[in-house]
Amino acid sequence: MPTEQDREGEPADHSAPHGPPDPVRDLVPDPVRDPWRAAMRLALAEAGRAARGGDVPVGAVVLAPDGRTVLAAGHNEREATGDPTAHAEVLAIRRAAAETGEWRLAGCTLVVTLEPCTMCAGALVQSRVDRVVYGARDDKAGAAGSLWDVVRDRRLNHRPEVIEGVLADDCARLLTDFFRDR
Ligand SMILES: [Zn+2]
Repeated sequence: MPTEQDREGEPADHSAPHGPPDPVRDLVPDPVRDPWRAAMRLALAEAGRAARGGDVPVGAVVLAPDGRTVLAAGHNEREATGDPTAHAEVLAIRRAAAETGEWRLAGCTLVVTLEPCTMCAGALVQSRVDRVVYGARDDKAGAAGSLWDVVRDRRLNHRPEVIEGVLADDCARLLTDFFRDR
């Protein structure tokens, strides 16, 4: 399984966030979000791979029920593959299901750099993940709390827990830099 240390050994990725440390953010403990920061850094590394292929930098990882083991990862590949459904979350949960041999990802956590869209939110409900963790909010298309809240719609039987705002600044900066540089 890839670990955070493995990723950090890779060549420098200029699309990855390397902003100055934020002393306030780093010193104030956040018991809800802090446990997911390491996984979000893996998702950020995935997002960097999307940008290298000309895709909007969004990355995702699926964690096993232990909350640490990475089952699968994915990044946005719409441009790279010409597939409109090739969003990071869809690719990551497909790969996680292939890895486990089970379409139900019960107990698993999906960690993604950007708030899921309606398609991905629907796919996440279908996958039965226990938890969705995301970084930046997407006020224009987000479907996990911003514009819609598909994942926590009370009319659905399965409603994953949602934790937002993990390394949100880093996740948002990656997108801002990508669009500025185009
Ligand atoms: Zn999506």
